[in-house]
Parts: sequence; structure tokens; C-alpha cells
Amino acid sequence: QQARIGVIGLAVMGSNLARNLARHGHPVALYNRSVAKTKSLVADHGDEGTFVPAETPEEFVASLERPRRMVIMVKAGGPTDAVIEQFAALLEPGDVIIDGGNAHFADTRRREAALRERGLHFVGVGISGGEEGALNGPSIMPGGSAEAYASLAPMLTDIAAQVDGDACVAHIGPDGAGHFVKMVHNGIEYADMQLIAEAYDLLRHAAGLTPAQIAEVFRGWNQGRLSSYLVEITTEVLSHVDADTGKPFVDVVQDQAEQKGTGRWTVQVALDLGVPVSGIAEATFARSLSGDATVRAAARGLAGPQHTESAGKGAEGIVEDIEQALYASKIVAYAQGFQQIRAGGEEYGWPIDLGAVAAIWRGGCIIRAEFLDRIRAAFDTEPTLPTLLSSPHFAEALAGAQDGWRRVIASATARGIPVPGFGAALSYYDSIRANQLPANLIQGQRDYFGAHTYRRTDRDGVYHTRWGQDRGEYRDS
Ligand code: NDP
Repeated sequence: QQARIGVIGLAVMGSNLARNLARHGHPVALYNRSVAKTKSLVADHGDEGTFVPAETPEEFVASLERPRRMVIMVKAGGPTDAVIEQFAALLEPGDVIIDGGNAHFADTRRREAALRERGLHFVGVGISGGEEGALNGPSIMPGGSAEAYASLAPMLTDIAAQVDGDACVAHIGPDGAGHFVKMVHNGIEYADMQLIAEAYDLLRHAAGLTPAQIAEVFRGWNQGRLSSYLVEITTEVLSHVDADTGKPFVDVVQDQAEQKGTGRWTVQVALDLGVPVSGIAEATFARSLSGDATVRAAARGLAGPQHTESAGKGAEGIVEDIEQALYASKIVAYAQGFQQIRAGGEEYGWPIDLGAVAAIWRGGCIIRAEFLDRIRAAFDTEPTLPTLLSSPHFAEALAGAQDGWRRVIASATARGIPVPGFGAALSYYDSIRANQLPANLIQGQRDYFGAHTYRRTDRDGVYHTRWGQDRGEYRDS
């Protein structure tokens, strides 16, 4: 029996992906370094489709139809390099190696270039949706050559999440484009989670609601424009009660957020590209800050506001304002993420269709949300839209939400409740729409201490003022 595709690495992600492929009628070759995982997959799920188990890499490669297609789902980093090397040595020109792990896009670019020299296709694929998605339909973001994608597309289309009859998969662009977009997806996920957490904090400490009541607020919001997977699971987490203590689950969980690093990658890359993804950065820093027990213990006694009376609105008004702040901040966070994808595309020569990215994030992935339909529509209507915020739909939404958004931030500030995500989003909004930013002063300072020159508002050219001498101005170029 020849297999159409193979999966290497049968831990939770690899075995679920293999089962998803098999369930859709694609015979799947299986290989795992330790044979036990291969055997238990076949023993537990062998009846779900056609599996061709192999005990050695040679046996695995021999069982694949040509061109050979194999998905590597092993630990990211060194193990992925080792497995690529092990299998590439057994392949022939035209064969396709797919890396479905959480690789950094720079590694994917390096691997793709090296394998291309050897005549092999390397497709770095961002896969979102965790274990459940891998089994039942993830959002799939493939990079690599168009030729390699064409040979994979029918299978990827079958196993991807489906929304309104569309599969959540699209060829993102060459080499590392898929993993780049997956990275930004995770960065947006950090921002979205932080914004939801701030909304919860305000509902609890400004509106005075209990976790169970807040769960109901989120349940209601999930019926509206905020409808999304993250809001849905927030409802579940907030309504959960700890079996041991009978307390709300959130009250027995330590307030120290952990991270695996994809948010950090997004911010690091954004700094290099010069793209202000302040929402993602604040969310990443907020996790780091929450985990810094030493600093937090030392700072606990610092003075807070004296008066913390309400901002003059009843609880209901505050709840409405928080919804506005959450929605507006979320628009900004996504706009920033899409801006980063565009900047990455320009830097690395990837012609990324932003509307298509929004479309494949509508299902399967963690940030799946109804409003991605709106984002897709905005980019489909105007692919060169300079910022999502200026699209008529979102400009109007922000105009409608801004009063509540501002009130929430003012009220949070007065009460001493931190809102780094909401605040960064509003500052971004106010900055990009400003007629005049104080960058003129910064240019003056730079020219003063470093003769870095400046441009004038009234004529062309580059100028320097002789600050230390007669303060005369001369034209530099
Ligand atoms: P792990 O990341 O825990 O990796 C375990 C697998 O890697 C096992 O099959 C193991 O083989 C294999 N492996 C590790 N080192 C080597 C090596 N040197 N040589 C050969 N095989 C090796 O598995 P997961 O299923 O959790 O994740 C797989 C990939 O998917 C990772 O890159 C991960 O980051 C990514 N991932 C993505 C998620 C998503 O939502 N997209 C969610 C979770 C993970 P053995 O059994 O022999 O030890």
C-alpha cells in the first residue's frame, strides 16, 4: 500500500493531523522515533482510515507515492533540523518536506533555501487550533513554493476548518511566509486575550460584578460583534467553580501568566521591521510583569489613588462602555497585526493577500471571530488600504465606540486599575489620526545633540541649526 502523504512525529499534534488526513480518505504513512507511539496510534485509531506504519525512515520513505510528501510534527528547533536532515538524505528531487511545527519564520527561510539547493521543496506551514484543531479542522497557513502548495492543496483543503463552505487554508507566499503569518496570529492572540482580561478586571473592580455575573456579560457579548472563540471560552472559564473550595475558578488560579514565546517573537520582529504593534507588545509585557513576583511584592505598598468613587455612571453604563473599549481596542490590535504582515511581506518579498489571511482565520484557529469577516471585506474591497482603521466600516465603529472607550480608560486611571492594552490601543488611534505629533520636537532635540538634521514644513531640503554657535541654519542637502 502506497501512502499519499506521511506524518513524522506522532505526539498529540502529529497523531491528530494523521487521523484527520486518514478520516478524509488520504492513506497516511506513519513514523515516530520511538515505535511505541506509531503502534498505539494504529491500535487505537487504525479503523479511522488507511494508515501505513513504518518502523524505520527508509521503510517510511519507501511507502510514499511520488513526489513524496511528508509532514514533520516534532519539537521545534534542533529536533526539527535533525529530522529534516535525516529524511532529506533519503529523498529525491521534487519531493516535499512540510514542517507543521511552530518554527520561527527565519528558520523556515533558512531550511527552505538549503533544501531548494538540493532540489527538494520545503513548505513551512503554520497550523493553528491546537490538538482539537489538528484533529477536526485547523486554520492552515502554508508557505513555500506555489508548485509544492499545488501538490498539497487538495489534502490541506480537506483537513482544514470549513467556514461558509470555504476551507481555512490559503497559500500565504514563498518560504517563511506561512510561519510569519502564524507568528503574527499568535501575537494578535496575546493582544486579544489581554484586552479580554482587562475587560474582566474592569467588570470586576469598576462595575463590581462577580465572576459568575461577568460570565453572563461575556455570554451576551458573544451574541454580538465581539462573537469569537476567545470570548466564548472566557465565559466558560469565568463560570467554572473550583470543586475543592467552591470558589470561582479564577479566584484559585495564580495571577502570573506564562508564555511559550510566539508573542515575544512577534514583538521582536516588529521592532526590526519598525511596525508599531503596541497592543501585542503591551500584552507580552503584561504577561512578563504579572510573572515578576519579586518586583510585584516590592511594589505592592506603592501609593494608589485616594478617591475611587465611580466615574458617575451606573454599573450598566460602565458595562456598555467596557464593551465599546474592548471592541475598539480589538480593532486596533488586529489592525496592527495586519500592518506587521504587510511590512513582513514587503521586507521579504511575499505578495500576501491580507483579505485571504483574514478569511482563513475565521475558523479553526484561536482568534477565530465573526469580525474577521469584516476585516476580509475591508481588504478585499481595498487591498492597498493603508490601515484597517481607515476603512469605512471600522472608522465608523471606532467613531461610535470612542466616547465609551475614553471614559473607561479615564475611569480605570482614576481608580488605579491598569489598562495597558486599552490604553495603548487608544494612544495608537489618537496618534495615527493626529494632525500634528510632537515628533517635530524630537527632531529638534536630535539635531541639537547629534547634528542629525531635520526637514522643514515650508520648504524642501535637509537642514541643521548650529546650536552651539550662532544658531544660524544651513541647508545640509
Ligand atoms: P512535541 O513538541 O512535544 O514533540 C514530541 C514529538 O517530537 C515526538 O514525536 C518526539 O518523538 C519527537 N521528537 C523530539 N525530538 C526528536 C528528535 N530529536 N528526533 C526525532 N523525533 C523527535 O509534540 P507536539 O505534538 O506537542 O507538537 C509538535 C509540533 O507542533 C511542535 O513544533 C509544536 O510546537 C507544534 N504545536 C503546535 C500547536 C498548535 O496549536 N499549532 C500546539 C501544540 C504544538 P518521541 O516520541 O520519539 O520522543
